[in-house]
Amino acid sequence: MIDFNTDEHFYGINKSLYYKTEEQKNEIKKMDPEYLTRTGTDFVLLPNSPEFINHNEPFEPMYIPKQTILEESLRREIERICFADTLLNKVVFDCADPSPFTKDIDPATYGLEVLPYYLPQSKEDSTLVFESRFESGNLRRAIQICDYEYNLILKPDYYTTMNTQWFYFSLSNTRKDVEYRFNIINMMKPDSLYNSGMKPLMYSEQGAKQKKIGWFRDGHEICYYQNNMKRKNGGFYYTLTFAVKFQHDFDCVYIAHCYPYTYTHLCRYLKQLESDPAKKNRVKRKQLCQTIAGNMCDFLIIGDFNNGKEKKGIVITSRVHPGETMASYVMEYMIDFLTGNTHEARILRENFIFKIVPMLNIDGVVNGNYRCNLAGVDLNRQWIDPNKKQHPTIYHTKQLVKKTKEERDLVLFCDIHGHSRKKNIFMYGCSGKDPNRKELVFPMLNRNNCSVFSFKDCCFLLQKDREGSARIALWRELSIINCYTLEMSFCGADFGKYEYFHFNLDIYKEIAQSFCLSIIDCYEPEQIKVKQVLEEIEQNSLKNQQKDDKNNSGDEGSDYSNDDPKEQAMPQQQIQLQNNDQQLGSQTKKLKKIPLLPPKKKKGQ
Ligand SMILES: [Zn+2]
Repeated sequence: MIDFNTDEHFYGINKSLYYKTEEQKNEIKKMDPEYLTRTGTDFVLLPNSPEFINHNEPFEPMYIPKQTILEESLRREIERICFADTLLNKVVFDCADPSPFTKDIDPATYGLEVLPYYLPQSKEDSTLVFESRFESGNLRRAIQICDYEYNLILKPDYYTTMNTQWFYFSLSNTRKDVEYRFNIINMMKPDSLYNSGMKPLMYSEQGAKQKKIGWFRDGHEICYYQNNMKRKNGGFYYTLTFAVKFQHDFDCVYIAHCYPYTYTHLCRYLKQLESDPAKKNRVKRKQLCQTIAGNMCDFLIIGDFNNGKEKKGIVITSRVHPGETMASYVMEYMIDFLTGNTHEARILRENFIFKIVPMLNIDGVVNGNYRCNLAGVDLNRQWIDPNKKQHPTIYHTKQLVKKTKEERDLVLFCDIHGHSRKKNIFMYGCSGKDPNRKELVFPMLNRNNCSVFSFKDCCFLLQKDREGSARIALWRELSIINCYTLEMSFCGADFGKYEYFHFNLDIYKEIAQSFCLSIIDCYEPEQIKVKQVLEEIEQNSLKNQQKDDKNNSGDEGSDYSNDDPKEQAMPQQQIQLQNNDQQLGSQTKKLKKIPLLPPKKKKGQ
């Protein structure tokens, strides 16, 4: 038997994920238990979560899709079906099932609390060791089909059979310069930016250690296509396939749909913010409510609390959809800017009170959901009549918005999202209450301030299927003219100086700052820039424009066009991969449910 206790025999597996040091255990005892992440399910996360260096590669180009890539991908798919008998079909990871490889091994033998699902048998065993049992991770199962090719199945959102789009997992025991291929076979959306130049994100622990490289885009031969696996209620699944050559032997590499941003990350950020002596007088951190799983949802109030000047109100929320992680980065940069030392930040604090709810769907973030909360519902459809128990963060945020409206002139509401099918940054607003189309002004000011903001992608229609979204529900009920959804592409821009480049943290920062500067432009007393855009609206007959919405069914709205609405409401979370050709062998073995635990009661309740 191999001695896994020595680092060199651990094949790049990040051992620190699998145990806590005494020091860490003591630190947790000291921490406020309210801020520990709870899954709300009987699914147990590893003792530790991965940590990343903040730096990321600047301005990475998109790839140019090869003309024959779809043909090639389909040919490979057909080969897998025709030669099904020759495939390995070896389940090498499952996030919930017990491992047949390590079930008889005591983790303490290796000084660990939990073992990986698979442990290599020798140095020659090049089987990858997958992991996703960390916060926001969502790989359900990995099946080795050839030496260097794996089929991957994602966990659907709890209490749904769908919403697979976000992915985040790690793999260890890599071999340098070998071409690996990964096929994520249970994607749901009919189209994807992976066919328009987007590459997955990767993070190499060795690259980070040796060269200080953070998250970077990688992968080639990328294709997203409909496969031959039928879904239970009609339609088919989709496959995202990509090949990749790793840079190091025995490395641990994380792969994600977008830069991960966890609840733990947010809690650390907020703690740092409130303990910053320079910012202490500019921001108050308050508890909004507890989530279904018992995690604390906080909100911030930012403003100049020392001057008695009358202030207008602005409410900004984000991360109602857990898979849209860029919303959290933009939110963090906005908070940094609003609490910062610049002249503009001071003007904003003197004239406005900002109420900010940075993470509306905490349980979804913790569990690696893409869209829903633990009740299996899209929280951005619950704003008309949110239920205090089922949708507590929406219920209490709505109360917060109403209270702000009673206290002061509430001039702007914005909910921040990511968009999985379109490029650029744009906004959805609501038209109908103001004949002068004043709702166009703020997005146009953003266009003038932000190099990746596309006004032509904005849409101001009131779609029937989105009546329950924050934007439409709050606009109707509270008559907030400037009531928006800010949408950001998962990929990048298709115009201007960043055309053909992926969005990165630098661009998220620009988006956040230009949003804040547009607030100044919108409300400064002289109204210089507002007058200019009003003139533009008049001249270009934008007043009467109603945009065709067929391309705007995005992430604020559901764009699962093949979906049977019944399937969405079905109270089960396992996927059943039906396939008549049996080409997927053990992959089709029914996946065990991960049941929900009853919500933890707060002390004294
Ligand atoms: Zn969204």
